[in-house]
Amino acid sequence: MENNHITILNIDLNAVDFNLNYFKSKLKTTTKILAVVKAFGYGSSSFEIAKHIASKVDYFAVAYLDEGIALRNAGIKTPILVLHPQKVNLQKMIDYNLEPTIYSVQLLKDIIEIAQTNEGLKNYPIHLKFNTGLNRLGFAKKDCLEISTLINNQDAVQITSIFSHIAASEDLNERAFTLQQINSFKNISSELIPTLKNKPFQHMLNTSGIINYAEEAQFDMVRLGIGLYGFGNATEKTNQLKNVFTLSSVISQIHTIEKGDSVGYNRSFMAQSTIKSATIPIGHADGISRQFGKGKGYVYINNKKAPILGNVCMDVIMVNVTDIDCNEGDEVFIYKNQQHMEDLAKNINSIPYELLTAISQRIKRIFTKF
Ligand SMILES: *Cc1c(COP(=O)(O)O)cnc(C)c1O
Repeated sequence: MENNHITILNIDLNAVDFNLNYFKSKLKTTTKILAVVKAFGYGSSSFEIAKHIASKVDYFAVAYLDEGIALRNAGIKTPILVLHPQKVNLQKMIDYNLEPTIYSVQLLKDIIEIAQTNEGLKNYPIHLKFNTGLNRLGFAKKDCLEISTLINNQDAVQITSIFSHIAASEDLNERAFTLQQINSFKNISSELIPTLKNKPFQHMLNTSGIINYAEEAQFDMVRLGIGLYGFGNATEKTNQLKNVFTLSSVISQIHTIEKGDSVGYNRSFMAQSTIKSATIPIGHADGISRQFGKGKGYVYINNKKAPILGNVCMDVIMVNVTDIDCNEGDEVFIYKNQQHMEDLAKNINSIPYELLTAISQRIKRIFTKF
């Protein structure tokens, strides 16, 4: 590996193991684990994460076909659920042994028709997604009869699992709504499953679902995403998880800014007194949102907070180090840990999911494994 990289995203694979075991300890030993590795493993790198945990989970999930193909090309053999395919993707899904989420009667007809054109293909695994209140993707309960008629008249595909997704699993104020979603899913399951030749397994919970509804809706499998990467749905949960991501860089240059001088594009920071600024080689092209400008974001230098001065540039930020004892070349933490990221996200009305997945492919990933 070339060592030219100054700005580095360190991914701690041991922390991923810790987090996976943490969630396993909250579940029945028989519950299957699906690890969600969409969007490059929430910004880490789907292939490295997937390779590292392949033997410890039952399934992977990605959002789109290409993400699944990338995992297969990297040699991952674990079953892979593709959450959001379209008709044009279905033949390739079969070619790469990827398992489609089927979310409408039309798509079910499409997958049956395409599967039947594959000579000798029998019981190809598909997964049905039901909409129970998120109103994003999924069959309705009224589709059950048509689903079982279509399925029972062919043997090219088989329903391996049925699932649904909770709209507000992190929000206990929405507990009544969530219990209603769980109940709808149970009703759908009891209507559909007895009409089928095989018994599909069921799943509903994402990370915060595991935290809040493991009693009520564990079913046969859970879909663990952000928790693997170190984030719970509340500070006290996150604190029980290990930090996976550390985004670091160094100070390129330090300037003294005299009173009345400005910093950065559009002169959006004006010095009211003499200050000291540090220039860091990371910008909005690396995924540091422009929203973080004008002090909404901050980095850590020598354990002290240094707020961003003025606008975020494409490749650079300038931070205020007036009260920090530091030198050119010193290490800078752009994202130090989960608590730092949660605080930053809050400042710009975002969530850690968005910060993580925005970290651009220009940044070098390094994996720690002891
Ligand atoms: C992304 C996703 C998950 C994972 O959610 P987390 O909150 O990251 O655990 C689970 N299920 C579906 C359908 C998803 O799209």
